[in-house]
Amino acid sequence: MDVQDYDVIVAGFGNAAQTAAFAAYETGARVLVLEKAPQGKRGGNTWFSHGAQFRHVHNGIADVKPLLPHVPEKEWEKIDLSPYTRDEFYSDVMRVTRGRSVPELAELLVNESYPTVKWMRESGIQWEILYSAGVPENGRFRWHHGSSFIHSKDGGAGLVEMWHRILQNKGVEIRFGTAATRLLTDDKGRVYGVVAQNSEGFTEIRCKGLVLGCGGFSANPAMRAQFLGGGWDLGKVRGTRYNTGDGIQMALDIGAQPFGHWAGSHATPIDADAGEYEAGFLDPANRRHRTHRYGWTLGIMVNTDGRRFVDEGEDFHAYTYAKTGAEIVKQPGSIAYQIFDAKVKDSITRLLYEGATPVVANSVRELAEKLEINPDVLVQTVEQFNGAVAQDRPFNEVIRDGKCTKGIYPPKSNWAQRIDTPPLVAYAATGGLTFTYGGLKINARCQVLNRLDQIIPGLYAAGEVTGGFFYYNYPSGSGLMRGAVTGRIAGGNAAGR
Ligand SMILES: Cc1cc2nc3c(=O)[nH]c(=O)nc-3n(C[C@H](O)[C@H](O)[C@H](O)COP(=O)(O)OP(=O)(O)OC[C@H]3O[C@@H](n4cnc5c(N)ncnc54)[C@H](O)[C@@H]3O)c2cc1C
Repeated sequence: MDVQDYDVIVAGFGNAAQTAAFAAYETGARVLVLEKAPQGKRGGNTWFSHGAQFRHVHNGIADVKPLLPHVPEKEWEKIDLSPYTRDEFYSDVMRVTRGRSVPELAELLVNESYPTVKWMRESGIQWEILYSAGVPENGRFRWHHGSSFIHSKDGGAGLVEMWHRILQNKGVEIRFGTAATRLLTDDKGRVYGVVAQNSEGFTEIRCKGLVLGCGGFSANPAMRAQFLGGGWDLGKVRGTRYNTGDGIQMALDIGAQPFGHWAGSHATPIDADAGEYEAGFLDPANRRHRTHRYGWTLGIMVNTDGRRFVDEGEDFHAYTYAKTGAEIVKQPGSIAYQIFDAKVKDSITRLLYEGATPVVANSVRELAEKLEINPDVLVQTVEQFNGAVAQDRPFNEVIRDGKCTKGIYPPKSNWAQRIDTPPLVAYAATGGLTFTYGGLKINARCQVLNRLDQIIPGLYAAGEVTGGFFYYNYPSGSGLMRGAVTGRIAGGNAAGR
């Protein structure tokens, strides 16, 4: 077997790995990147992050302006953005993860979020304003509390492309179609390299520090069934087909500690017609027609039995979308119908329901017949819902309006309006797996820990490979942020900074 030598090896080529490779390069290290996917499919789930939103702490416009130097002064005058403090970000993480996120890791994510997006800008990553999260109001745009404000230029694909160009310009070596398959350890347990596999066979490559940035196990049906549970082996995957849990498995094989919410995942409502993999887009090759179906907070959602099964108005979708996909997968046939009436037509259009084919009807009974749901049941569900809608306060989709239902289960806690204005539309949705939450235990230096809570020398992890950040649910825009924060730290430390 051919043997080669580098300072740092990074496995993966999504945002976490790319960030790690650049951070290692900055220290002067000789870096090698191994990407399992061929070049045309590079970039992992990062590539599929069409919104590519980054959630970070800021103090309002003064902090975000340096990230967006190309935005003219006139544009800023139309923007209302209140600060998003460390305490707010931290409590959002803790609230949605039911207090389970590991405080040391949640603090790392929160405290390093702004310095990291600033460093990315200085490193050559271009940001844009995330207008899709802003709400138009009287000629201005307002971001409701906790909405992400920036995204990378040209989405996740743009982010992968920008990092690729930056790394290429710096002369960092990248091998596509080359998977990390096995970690090499010495008799003290130190990781001194990896066995890589490409179409020509296996190569042993040595290094001083190795960063695993090679994703979770979302594209591994056996691991999905084993850890996420029934139904998920057949579930649809919104992102890459290459995240098959290799990095996690390789590290477990040398005694790393499994950590975090292994039965938990980020899974969102997507179009029922989406593909098995790369289901973030109805047409992935051309990045056309996003499959996300995030408007359910404005209507009701029923299963194929015609019954509601979640509180559709529990919170803004940014705080519930990541857990709602799994609720749909638990329903018969893993299908739900999102039903809206004409009152919210404009909002649904704004939420980018393009590319989907709704079923349209002039009455609930007609809708049920077209959806092949028992009409008596759906009529009863809608009548019960309509009768329970509180009429004592106005509907306002920009705030948690408290316009709720009374006396039905499940309740709808906000944005409850009667379904009574035809035409009625129904969109078929299923759960789409975005990424998995379980992974490896790391410390705040992104060093991987063994089952005795000791550091495994030479081994670092970043992004989806890590566990302990997210449980049950997650606040939108935190996946890319976690990848960038941990990638930057892991890459710098792997190079011995
Ligand atoms: C449709 C969609 C939309 C999303 N939108 C957002 C968003 O707006 N904001 C947000 O914060 N998050 C979003 N996410 C989540 C976000 O994409 C991920 O959390 C994040 O990109 C993970 O980064 P990563 O680098 O850890 O993994 P990935 O980007 O998945 O990268 C993993 C890399 O490892 C490679 N790999 C796998 N196995 C091996 C191996 N054995 N050897 C070498 N390489 C290997 C893969 O090919 C890939 O390049 C979205 C995800 C999807 C799917």
